Amino acid sequence: MSDMLDHFGKIFQEGSTRAGIKCCSEWTTQYVYQPHPRDKRKILPTSWTYYPWSRDMHDAEGDFLIGMKAAQMAYTNVVVDQTLYRIDMLGSSCLYLMPNQNPVASDFSSGRLHKLLLASPYLSTLFTSGSNVGHKMAGTRELWIRGASSDAGLRNIDPDFIVLDEFDVMDQKGVAMALRRPDGQWNSTVWMISTPTLPESGIHKEWLNSTKEHWRFKCPICSQMCQLDFPDCLVVTGDGLNDPKLAESHVICNRCKKPIRHEDKIEAQNKTGRWEAEEPGGSSRGFYINQLYSCQKEPHKIARQAIEAQYSKSKEQEYWNQAGGVPHIVDGAKLTEQDILGRRVVRKMDESWPSHIRVRTMGVDVGKVFHYTIDGWTYDKPDRDLNLATSCDVLRAGFCDSLTEIRQLMYQYQVAMTVIDYQPEERLVYEFCSQNRGTTLRCQYAAGESGSKMSLKTDDETKVNIHRNHWLDLRLGRFTTNRIRLPRDISEEYVVHHKNIVKHFSEDKRGSVSKDKSEYKKQGADHLAHSGAYSEVAFAVAASRSANVPYRSVL
Ligand SMILES: [Zn+2]
Repeated sequence: MSDMLDHFGKIFQEGSTRAGIKCCSEWTTQYVYQPHPRDKRKILPTSWTYYPWSRDMHDAEGDFLIGMKAAQMAYTNVVVDQTLYRIDMLGSSCLYLMPNQNPVASDFSSGRLHKLLLASPYLSTLFTSGSNVGHKMAGTRELWIRGASSDAGLRNIDPDFIVLDEFDVMDQKGVAMALRRPDGQWNSTVWMISTPTLPESGIHKEWLNSTKEHWRFKCPICSQMCQLDFPDCLVVTGDGLNDPKLAESHVICNRCKKPIRHEDKIEAQNKTGRWEAEEPGGSSRGFYINQLYSCQKEPHKIARQAIEAQYSKSKEQEYWNQAGGVPHIVDGAKLTEQDILGRRVVRKMDESWPSHIRVRTMGVDVGKVFHYTIDGWTYDKPDRDLNLATSCDVLRAGFCDSLTEIRQLMYQYQVAMTVIDYQPEERLVYEFCSQNRGTTLRCQYAAGESGSKMSLKTDDETKVNIHRNHWLDLRLGRFTTNRIRLPRDISEEYVVHHKNIVKHFSEDKRGSVSKDKSEYKKQGADHLAHSGAYSEVAFAVAASRSANVPYRSVL
């Protein structure tokens, strides 16, 4: 009871000042307390000095707001403050969506948000029930903090303000579910922020349709409005990490190309900084910034990252995505058109297959239609790994509308084994594989970087679990090592699907030595690439069965 009196007491006291507040940035300056950027022990009301670009972002309006960012540029502050402002001042109910419930969303709620609420005298009383990490109430207004990977958490909620934090690593099914306009809500706003990953996908794709706003300020040297382009406006002055000259690295104006001192850059941004749209007619407002603008991270630290990027794929990826806030593809991380078209031979799809082919397999990726690849296999050279010892002729690739047609193709090509994606048509595929036991398997990509290449479920004869990276590496590697042959009339769709699948690198920090870790991401439809990987699995299973040896011995 005393908590409640306390709460209303606070609101009563605050009533007179609250009435004068016109926008989120004013509210934030008054009520949100943060550790001082240069002395974390001091907790003070929000100041814009070290994040001058974030002030106008707080007051941005529109149905759809996009923030493409480098790391540590205070975009999260913008969306958290907006969320609390809307709950407090506009009576909104909000959904704060993160990639996963555990640990990401839970840690955010019990860590960052909890600390923020405690640090700010007024906010500490905002939520009347606050112990639940995923759900908080402020009177009748609600705040849900959820992970996009869990459908269950996204049912039966009706937010009118939605934040998607780290959009590029979110499960897209969860995003679609969160964005379904809640019934009865006539006005909802979505704020989407992320560091980008690949060009023309995720946040970058959204950014391309937006107003494309860049943060600009008056150059202290030439007095023109300038922007700090990444990486062109960073001058790296040393050759290696141990070079003392590296400390002199600096940023330059994109107009006069003269060096701008770090402290002058902070002052100029505070006095003259403003957002300027490249596409004023864009369908949403989009904000982009990179770390060259940072008032905290000095240029020599970014220069170190530029040098490290030359020696590791994950550091290269991180440099562009995290420091530059721009999408990036590491050299060799995707197939080129030439890699694919260069593998064509004279044979056409309808012609009979070469006589040296003994075994044929099929892989099927399931989506709106059934995309398939039918391969014929030739033993080339001895290798412990059977797939590496063989070359592959793609006999036919395309799509059909039903599993009945897939069965016809199985007969027509006398396919020894067919492996089919077990999702999203789980029931349908299960029934098909049960009816065609011995010649078909349902396949599930097992998550994670480690684990076995393949494991056949002993309690379920129709199912195989496979390691996603291993089989995609194997399949896509055939194009660059010349161990795959395509029919002359292979479709444009086949080429596009293979160009749409891209390796994204990050650092694996487990253990004492950090190493590159990679994950395949897509820039568009990629079904035929997956059907090829499933066909590789089918071949390994078919070969081990025909030789009557355990499948592990051929991998
Ligand atoms: Zn200048």
